[in-house]
Amino acid sequence: METLGFNEQEENYKKQIFDLKTLLEIGKTLNASLSLNDVLNIVVLTCNGHFHASGAIILLPAEKDDGEYFITRTEGEYFEIKANGPFIKFLKENQRTIDIGDLKNDKEFEDLYKKLKEKEINLIVPMRFKGAINGLLLLKEKERDFGIKYSENEKQYLDIIAGFASVAIENAKLYEMATLDRKTRLYNHGYFQNRLIEEIERAEKYKTDLTLMIMDLDHFKKINDTYGHMKGDEVLIKVAETIKKQVREFDIPARFGGEEFTVILPETDPDNGVNVAERLRAAVKKLKFSSKKGEFNVTVSIGISNYIHSSNMTEDILIEQADKALYYAKEHGRDQVALYRDIIKK
Ligand code: GH3
Ligand code: MG
Ligand code: MG
Repeated sequence: METLGFNEQEENYKKQIFDLKTLLEIGKTLNASLSLNDVLNIVVLTCNGHFHASGAIILLPAEKDDGEYFITRTEGEYFEIKANGPFIKFLKENQRTIDIGDLKNDKEFEDLYKKLKEKEINLIVPMRFKGAINGLLLLKEKERDFGIKYSENEKQYLDIIAGFASVAIENAKLYEMATLDRKTRLYNHGYFQNRLIEEIERAEKYKTDLTLMIMDLDHFKKINDTYGHMKGDEVLIKVAETIKKQVREFDIPARFGGEEFTVILPETDPDNGVNVAERLRAAVKKLKFSSKKGEFNVTVSIGISNYIHSSNMTEDILIEQADKALYYAKEHGRDQVALYRDIIKK
């Protein structure tokens, strides 16, 4: 066996220490991430940055019409692999990262091998959680300058990272379940309350504007009564999608309850708050719904309040004022926006 010189050995140790430190950092970052998208991004960036992969894709389980599949959840090529098919069974039995070369001569995986090869996928790293596979990490070849093939050491590290990622994915899913409304996929009431307190603190600290919007569907009971509860649900889901589309990335839309929605708008003054609300009102009114009884549309009323600095204004007061403005909008004919600051002058 060839023995390494002192310098070479030192270099090897240095590299290992560097890798372990990186691994620790990745583990810590993944542990601290509560958003599924963040978790996926961190893993992909690590594959690109640390392992010099020319591409990395993550597949997660999703229900389709004919059962469960692993499908691409990150940017990059779309793959779907049947969750109860032979390949996942094969992965379950093989504890480690798979080099797709290992599939080459297996008749059962001929088609899969071709598809993977076509897209230059080189490695498949299964993510495991409690004995089951909860995700697949697919790595493309290494960038040419880094030798195309992955070393055994790198495969081991990838196994460890996949282990971290699988736990982080489960954490993120639990967090989503605890903070998102199931029907509309907007934040739920509890999350809204906590965020409002945080945003008030932030607005006070940095002396920035803060607007709160409460939106209520007009005569929604009648929609349910006329078109049925299922149609009513469809309306709620579409309205929620519209809200999400109309607000900015850092606004916080939530389902307040029933047919009521809220949006927290940080760094937004009263006039801009009204602009956003008007835009939203118009966008909802434009939605068309079809039913056995013909087409119909819905309208919303919106109440707006604003945080006032150094006023000891609590979240309850902010909500109460937006609610009063909403009530005013309802009283004055619905399908309109009312600003608390203006209605108290009237
Ligand atoms: P207003 O214009 O005064 O707001 O009238 P409204 O009919 O919208 O108000 P009301 O509070 O009388 O009725 C709200 C309705 O919303 C009654 C309730 O059954 C319905 N609702 C609440 N949650 C859901 C839901 O998840 N799905 C469906 N389909 N309906 C819901
Ligand atoms: Mg209501
Ligand atoms: Mg209503």
